[in-house]
Amino acid sequence: MRQKMAAGNWKMNGTSAALAELETLIQGQHAATSELLICTPATLLSRAAELAADSPVAIGGQDCHAATSGAHTGDLSSDMLKDAGATAVILGHSERRADHSETSEDVAAKTKSAWSAGLIAIVCLGETLAERESGDTLSVVGNQLAASLPDGATGQNTVIAYEPVWAIGTGKVPSLAQIAEVHDFLRQALTTRFGTEMADATRLLYGGSVKPGNAAEIFATSNVDGALVGGASLKAADFSPIIAALDAS
Ligand code: PEP
Repeated sequence: MRQKMAAGNWKMNGTSAALAELETLIQGQHAATSELLICTPATLLSRAAELAADSPVAIGGQDCHAATSGAHTGDLSSDMLKDAGATAVILGHSERRADHSETSEDVAAKTKSAWSAGLIAIVCLGETLAERESGDTLSVVGNQLAASLPDGATGQNTVIAYEPVWAIGTGKVPSLAQIAEVHDFLRQALTTRFGTEMADATRLLYGGSVKPGNAAEIFATSNVDGALVGGASLKAADFSPIIAALDAS
């Protein structure tokens, strides 16, 4: 059985005051059955990890460099994230693919680095609106999956997040049939490359405008094992009902 997962991506949001939201979230989640993760900005990571110690909420990073150390001003290695208290890292988010020209090959190198530090790699994939409208969704996400995942991926070291670029932060959500089509396709692609055991063990998250009002129906969709949530993870009052919907699914 795959443990369901609710991961929050705070992106470039939050200074010290935001830790109060994390505290509220933690206080309400002692009975949660899903795996919970909040990926804070790097500046909050170690304080967030201290707050979340011995709680059901784990703390993650939002990116790492592929190298272990060196002359990469402004970057963070996977070892640094681990040392600060992270247990996971988001890789290949569409905002990084767009803003920093990250390729799937870059994502694969970062994924290897995350694994070597003992971090779970949350590898993001997703089509643009133009790609969906031209009927290329499955080939785009299939190519991203193939190139972003190195050999050696397991259900323990990797989580896949399907995030249509046009659904992120827009309030637009694909139909449940569209989500199911992609998630079923991803499960099959993992089976073909890595075998049934790995594919059955790997969590497939949906991301893109998940809110308290649409979470339950998304979590009831074929092969959806949880969510990667941006905006609605910033407030405990929004993220908590999403977690409750996932626990109940
Ligand atoms: C995200 O950035 O990963 C995301 C899914 O954002 P939002 O939930 O705000 O659409």
